[in-house]
Amino acid sequence: MDYLLGPSAPFIAPSPPPTYNEAIGVPDEPDMGECIDIPVINPVFLGCDPVQTVCPQCIQPVETEIRSFNTKFTHITALTLFIIGCLPCFLLPYCFSYFKKTLHYCPICGYYFGTYTPLSTDQGSYSNYF
Ligand SMILES: [Zn+2]
Repeated sequence: MDYLLGPSAPFIAPSPPPTYNEAIGVPDEPDMGECIDIPVINPVFLGCDPVQTVCPQCIQPVETEIRSFNTKFTHITALTLFIIGCLPCFLLPYCFSYFKKTLHYCPICGYYFGTYTPLSTDQGSYSNYF
């Protein structure tokens, strides 16, 4: 029966195919010497007063320019103060920006940052990437 098998050739294991990274030329280990700039998100909460921030459009440190408007909340607060008899102070909601809707803009380029609305659950925050 040995004549059926004949002399056996030495077994040579085939080399495994290259990995995907080797095939496309990407090293397996990341180059630890490189630094990658990852943007840091700094949320800025906009209130009824101007805030210090960096404008994402003109990339300048600025204090936001605000524009305030009366809203239903302003009128209802004034009416409530009038009805309960606080006659000297029922006009105060028209004097303070806390009771008004406030829009924040960049004083240099006019970029719109966001809006503060009184009693809103979203307190007018925005994020920049500096
Ligand atoms: Zn700007």
